[in-house]
Amino acid sequence: MKFKNHIAQGIPFDRAQNIGGVITPTIVVLHDAAGRLEHGNSANYLRTAPRGVSVHFILERDGSISQQVPTNRRAGHAGTSHYHGRDGVNDFSIGIEIVNPGRMTDAGNGKARAWYKQEFDISEFGIQAVTTPEHGSGLWMDYTEAQIEAGEALLNGLFGYIPTLTDITSHWYISPGRKVDTNPLFPLAQMRARVLGRDDVQSAEADEASAPAHQEDEMVAINVPGSTLNMRRWPSFNPNVISTIADDVVVPVIREGTFDGRAWLKVRHGGLEGWIVRSHADPITQSN
Ligand SMILES: [Zn+2]
Repeated sequence: MKFKNHIAQGIPFDRAQNIGGVITPTIVVLHDAAGRLEHGNSANYLRTAPRGVSVHFILERDGSISQQVPTNRRAGHAGTSHYHGRDGVNDFSIGIEIVNPGRMTDAGNGKARAWYKQEFDISEFGIQAVTTPEHGSGLWMDYTEAQIEAGEALLNGLFGYIPTLTDITSHWYISPGRKVDTNPLFPLAQMRARVLGRDDVQSAEADEASAPAHQEDEMVAINVPGSTLNMRRWPSFNPNVISTIADDVVVPVIREGTFDGRAWLKVRHGGLEGWIVRSHADPITQSN
C-alpha cells in the first residue's frame, strides 16, 4: 500500500467534514461502526457526522476500505480516552471503523436485535453470546473474513508507511467502562501478533541473525520528512523504542539484516545502538 500526502493510494478518499490539526500518530485504534451493514451507510454518516465526529478509515463488510481523514490529521473517533498515561487519544492516533452492528440483544425466534431495531438471523450472521469483563454480556456479530484480511493489509500498510506507530488497540481498551468496541469476537491478539510481531527477536539473537555492515564506515541519512524515526532495541514494532532520530541526521551502520521480511539496520546514535527500518534510511554514497 502506497501513500501520498498521508492518503492511501488506490483507496477512495471522501473528505470528512471534521478534520483537525496536524498530529504524529503513535497508535491505531479499532472501532465498530455500530450501524447498519449496507455498504456506505456508516461511511456516509461519518463523513458529515455531528459533534466533531470523524475517522480516518472505514472497513466495509466486503473488505473494501475508504479513507476520510489524512493519517497526519486529527479525527474525532475516540472521545474521552487514555492510553498508557496519555489523555485524549485523538491527538495521537489513527482510527479505523469496522462495519458491525455492535452489541445486540436476544429478539427470540433465533434472531438478535441491534440497537437500531434491525433483527439478524443468529446462525446466518455467525452471532454468538459472549461475556467478558470489558464488554459485559451481549450477542455479537462475527466479522467477515474479508474484513479481517483487508484490516490486516491496511495495518501492515500503515505500519510500513508511518515509522512513529508502535501499537494497535481497540476503543474498549482506551475508554474502559464507556465503550465496548471492537466486539469480543474480533481477533485483536492475533491481529497484533501478525502485524507487530509477537515473538521479538532479542538483541543477541538479532546480532546473530544479521550481518556486519557491508562496507566499512557505511553511513545512512534518515529520511522521514517532517517526522522522526524510531530507534528500537530489537528489530520489531513492539513497544521497544529507545530513542528517536530526526530527519536528515546521518548515522553509522553497524549491522544489517532481514526480520519478518523487512530490512533493518543496526545504527549508532546519541551514545546508543539500536535498530531502524531500512526503508527510511538512504545510503550515503562516498566519493573521493
Ligand atoms: Zn468506537
